[in-house]
Amino acid sequence: MKKVVKFGGSSVSDAAQFKKVKNIIESDPSRNIVVVSAAGKRFKDDNKITDLLYLCHAHLQYGVSYETIFSLIEQRYFSILNELHLSIDLKKEFEEIRNNMSVEDIDYLVSRGEYLCALLMSDYLGYDFVDAKDFIIFDYNGKLNRELTRNAFLEIMKLHTHVVIPGFYGAYRNQKIKIMARGGSDITGSILADLVDADVYENWSDVSGILYADPRIVANPKRVDRITYSELRELSYMGASVLHDEAIFPVKEKNIPINILNTNDPSNPGTMILEDCSELDKQSPPPFITGIAGKKDFTSITIYKSGISSEIGVAFQAFDILRKYKISIENMPCGIDSFSLIVSTAKVKECLYELLNDLKEALHPDHIRVLDHLSLIATVGRGMVNNPGISGRIFAELGKNNINIQTISQGADELNIIVGVKNDDFEKTIQVIYEKFIR
Ligand code: ASP
Repeated sequence: MKKVVKFGGSSVSDAAQFKKVKNIIESDPSRNIVVVSAAGKRFKDDNKITDLLYLCHAHLQYGVSYETIFSLIEQRYFSILNELHLSIDLKKEFEEIRNNMSVEDIDYLVSRGEYLCALLMSDYLGYDFVDAKDFIIFDYNGKLNRELTRNAFLEIMKLHTHVVIPGFYGAYRNQKIKIMARGGSDITGSILADLVDADVYENWSDVSGILYADPRIVANPKRVDRITYSELRELSYMGASVLHDEAIFPVKEKNIPINILNTNDPSNPGTMILEDCSELDKQSPPPFITGIAGKKDFTSITIYKSGISSEIGVAFQAFDILRKYKISIENMPCGIDSFSLIVSTAKVKECLYELLNDLKEALHPDHIRVLDHLSLIATVGRGMVNNPGISGRIFAELGKNNINIQTISQGADELNIIVGVKNDDFEKTIQVIYEKFIR
């Protein structure tokens, strides 16, 4: 069994968490490739090391002393070093960071959180430290060069069997550090799972898997046992954040399962994410809903024009105008003589009037209606496919609870039913669907 295991920021936030990680690693000999984030929050109002590093850079930029912030980072890592009696020369490492940090190179500075954490963890576990900058190689357009990465990794792994690798960064071909998007250690783990053809990619954080709904909205929601990558994409796009979006792509091709696990509750089986759940679904059929997620604050722009459905190129013109203002369309329900463009209110706010004017001039509509304070809620589930009556039951339940549905859409893959409701009905909509179909 080959495993890649990634520990998120809260799993490595202090010495006590390091101990939990060690127990997890030692309980399974196949956990020999370990990726770590930078130390995260220990408690609610604590700081993440990566945030502090960004702040140091901002201080550098404005010529203000960064010492107070930098010493918070030093304290955190020194306390792990001291409590665990580690032997890394951390003083020398911090000196080197001080000497090399510069306004011009934010990526170097911000990546040091993961770098130091991996050094400490490798010392603690007795594993070798392998720097991500030596094998995760990006082209100058920012894209991962898979071939160079694979070759460099295979070369390095001729010398090591048990390794700890810092997440979140790699390097350009000229060795200059490049960080990934925030939360990017998930992506590092996924790249490694692909490189070693892992049987499973374990992603350890502080949640016991994926929940059917946001626990801030639904009290004690149930855990999802298994979910497909596509379902997860739909849910995470709609705001359910468990895993970095881009982390799915490297493992999806090879159908490597991702297991979401909790460092603070390691015996909980968590959630398995798979490309294809059909074999397992044969043994125990999935519930028809796999999750409910949503986002608030959309604006709907509805364009009415008689005969619009037989006119060629109208949608194209509307898309082109949105492209001009760099606004993406989040959802697009259609009527016969109308269609609605649902966009993020925050993004359209500054340019709404110019945009409406352009739409009027280009499309000559009979009427345009703008609706704000709209929420979109996605009910996602592979169990809905080819299963008649589900959308009807969802709509009926919302009606019974006096929730007015303002927009409805469902793709032909039948994986996702999206309803638009007033922001004021957002929480209630999720609660009603959960109570009726999942509880
Ligand atoms: N430390 C980085 C961040 O806070 C990356 C990660 O934790 O995955 O975004």
